[in-house]
Amino acid sequence: MRMSKMYMPTLREVPAEAEIPSHQLLLRSGMTRRLVSGIYSYLPLGYRVIKKVEDIIREEMDNYGGQELLMSAVQPKEIWEATGRWDDFGPEMFKVKDRHSREFCLGPTHEEYLTDMINGEITSYKQLPLILYQIQTKYRDELRPRFGFMRAREFIMKDAYTFDTNEENMKKAYENQWNAYDDIFTRLKLRYKVVQGDSGAMGGDNSHEFMAMSEYGESLVAYCKSCDYAATDEKAAVVYDIVNEIEEELELEKVHTPGATTIEDLQGIFKTDGSKFAKALVYSVNEEPVVCIIPGDRQLSEIKFLNYIGEAEHDLEVASDFQIEEISGAEKGFTGPIGLKEGTRVLVDSRITEMKNLIVGGNEKDYHIKNANFGRDFQGEIVEDLLLIEEGDKCPQCGEVLEMERGIEVGNIFQLGKKYSEGLDARFLDENGKSQLFWMGSYGIGVSRTVAAIIEQYHDEQGIIWPLNVAPYHAIITVINGKNEEQVQLAEEIYESLKKLGVEVLLDDRDERAGVKFNDRDLIGIPLRITVGRGAADREVEYSLRKDGERIDVSVESLEDLIKKEFDQFEMRI
Ligand code: ATP
Ligand code: MG
Repeated sequence: MRMSKMYMPTLREVPAEAEIPSHQLLLRSGMTRRLVSGIYSYLPLGYRVIKKVEDIIREEMDNYGGQELLMSAVQPKEIWEATGRWDDFGPEMFKVKDRHSREFCLGPTHEEYLTDMINGEITSYKQLPLILYQIQTKYRDELRPRFGFMRAREFIMKDAYTFDTNEENMKKAYENQWNAYDDIFTRLKLRYKVVQGDSGAMGGDNSHEFMAMSEYGESLVAYCKSCDYAATDEKAAVVYDIVNEIEEELELEKVHTPGATTIEDLQGIFKTDGSKFAKALVYSVNEEPVVCIIPGDRQLSEIKFLNYIGEAEHDLEVASDFQIEEISGAEKGFTGPIGLKEGTRVLVDSRITEMKNLIVGGNEKDYHIKNANFGRDFQGEIVEDLLLIEEGDKCPQCGEVLEMERGIEVGNIFQLGKKYSEGLDARFLDENGKSQLFWMGSYGIGVSRTVAAIIEQYHDEQGIIWPLNVAPYHAIITVINGKNEEQVQLAEEIYESLKKLGVEVLLDDRDERAGVKFNDRDLIGIPLRITVGRGAADREVEYSLRKDGERIDVSVESLEDLIKKEFDQFEMRI
């Protein structure tokens, strides 16, 4: 491709709207443009990368037995009502009406659609297992679209669905997809970790997330260097050591604590550390107050809380001052577990049940209570673990101190069980001619988000450093002096011969200064670079790689071998 004719609107300045490297570089390199918040176009260079990532995913999905299809983005309300997700998905779902007022959504995912489609057409165990997948545009009206491709409202996803005869076979399908994902992310050269996932709105019991490590990731991953434990911060099991200095339960004691509403204030008054307190956090779940009692020196994991009560994130809010006063009789800051309004739902982290003589809010302005003990003084539903992991916590598997690093969720795998087949009554006949519900799994990869993750891991101050197998073009030829006939001629010759060889090559034939051309080639991150300058008379060019920048002068004739060497490293053929 001749760059003089290419639609590649690069930018010198970092766009103000872009906060993280991948977003800045995608915009600066002219790979994308924003239409409105969270909605992007893929421009020619960017779209080539998207397609290469898709192709790698496609090859591996096919290798592991998948069959590709393409479903519509427009889905009727009825199939979503059958599984309860028309409401459960909440405000994230884009909803539309046709001219007859029939309701549809723009698909955020396709479990309902596909399950409904195969129902009645896949009728026998003999047709199973089945792995179907698509690479398609998804729509989600995200609360906070941000970071470009990372959290968009329209994005490209690879979504796969498996159908099996029983639980054991579903688990085999899950393992098979896990292996496919390992191969995909390894080929994409991503440094990643697999963590226990949160099943959230998907339902089902078991899920894992594939996290590409990056300081700008939206998730925090806790992992162990000594064993294989890894989980997101919201999900990671918290090991909390309880120290009970006084074993016997002491008498309750009301203490005047004027104006002390935070644990820090109270530590000063009681001359003790945060672990002697039990704090009460009040949430509003679907407008009903729920109180969580946890150790005073820890934070609550909202995901663990939501999973326990079985509600979605959009159903949860921090309680209003009014709600707090209504259940505790006092203003915010003095809420505690003793004497709450009858019928108030109280969840107690299991550690609290073993901690003795706790300091708690008095449910009265400017008062706290000393020596509160679970069972004797207050009750509640005991939840094994409501705590958010923090720096310095120990591995729940081996006791080693956990490492914490941020990650981007590029893919996830879910064992769905029978949730969707039940909702849509999707059945097959087993070996005994008995009608059975399908056992399902679903498996997503954020294709456009993966492109952002690759950039996060492969860039420097100057621009993107694409791995060869996803680069928009493999090679770029830069002519130093466009007015020099010899240089132009040689560049044209190399351009033609590389094309013939099957190398995807850019020829920078623009009427620009050499400095501008160099900056642009760094910015757009083309892996293999050929610079045609003074040596042209002797058929000599400069060859360099974007990844290390080291330049060597070589003869035109040796280019083919040098390029082949790089292709071999990626097991790519030319
Ligand atoms: P997240 O927790 O990041 O919102 P999710 O759990 O909602 O992700 P899934 O519904 O499982 O994600 O979608 C599968 C994959 O699609 C995700 O692993 C992610 O890579 C990608 N993805 C999800 N939401 C977005 C988005 N708003 N923009 C870009 N990619 C997304
Ligand atoms: Mg989401």
